[in-house]
Amino acid sequence: MSVSTPAASLPVVAPSQKPAAKPVVASEEFLAELAAHSKKLESATPREIIAWAVENYHPKLTMATAFGPEGCLILHYLSEINQDVHVFNLDTGYQFKETLELRDRIAERYGIEVKLLSADTTVEQYEAQHGGPLYKTKPDQCCFDRKVTVLRRAVEGWKAWMSGIRRDQSPDRANAPIVGWDKKFGIVKISPLANSTKQEVWKTITDEKVPYNPLHDQGYTSIGCWPCTRAVMFGEDERAGRWSGTAKTECGLHTSD
Ligand code: SF4
Repeated sequence: MSVSTPAASLPVVAPSQKPAAKPVVASEEFLAELAAHSKKLESATPREIIAWAVENYHPKLTMATAFGPEGCLILHYLSEINQDVHVFNLDTGYQFKETLELRDRIAERYGIEVKLLSADTTVEQYEAQHGGPLYKTKPDQCCFDRKVTVLRRAVEGWKAWMSGIRRDQSPDRANAPIVGWDKKFGIVKISPLANSTKQEVWKTITDEKVPYNPLHDQGYTSIGCWPCTRAVMFGEDERAGRWSGTAKTECGLHTSD
């Protein structure tokens, strides 16, 4: 599947087929409706999927990005489709300076200002409360407090959120639908790059000169918070540098438990 096909033939959804507003509880019927849309979008390009998401959910569509290559690519497409979509970053207080600088570069290039959403406490307050940095001793709790809780608050009031996950990133993400019900956060989740490959994403980034995090050129294939991210060695998995040396593989934003 190409990621650079122009949005010439967007999958048109007739008004009667548009996804219903978010139900309080996702009914079987609603889940089936989302699954049908997801199936239909399997053959669409990322750009077409993003256009579909905007057409069906804006202004109740939001997007989360950690400024990975996938998020930057979605922002690239979004800038051509609708610059007014709300986009946010979970600013844990532990992000690399290169990541935060990329936010400024995105704003300059696309005119899209990604909102920084933070936890209730600063890093200093949080570490003082817990007698030191929890990422060393309880990374699950640290991610929960500084990411999951913030995302839960961030998606309140929206009908759908977009994320940049890809199925080929890890076994945890291998079955991610393009459109589905995110039961953890009670909102529709759209992953326009779910069936794109790493190579396709990077080809488009290179071809279309999309800004990306310079740490990727230093062996950081997946970038999260600096205490929990290292560069990978040749032959290692893409996400091997995240929480390296522990059994942890996800921060909890993209898992159902
Ligand atoms: S990735 Fe590390 S520093 Fe960031 S929130 Fe999770 S445990 Fe804390």
